[in-house]
Amino acid sequence: MIHLTCQTCRQTTDSDHSREAVCWLCLARQGASVELREIDRLIRKRRAWLAKGLRAPNDEQLWRLAQRLQRRIVAVIPPHDAQAVYNQLVREIEDRSVPAA
Ligand SMILES: [Zn+2]
Repeated sequence: MIHLTCQTCRQTTDSDHSREAVCWLCLARQGASVELREIDRLIRKRRAWLAKGLRAPNDEQLWRLAQRLQRRIVAVIPPHDAQAVYNQLVREIEDRSVPAA
């Protein structure tokens, strides 16, 4: 295992968690950029509905997107790391879409 710097995000990574000096997270962000953007949009929309006391309308859509996101990640990340990468990306979206207090 060789320590190196990710060429995209400049974070420290290593040869077991990167491909051609791009870390798993960056590879997944690239491979699933469409899905990640769409999930981000839906979660924001959902939060806005809930904040107004309305029932969020897009559970089914969100679920299908999450499935697609998982498939995209599995396509670029080795299976034993794919779940952790998926969890991390979803956590990032959730943190980002929390409205500023
Ligand atoms: Zn990176």
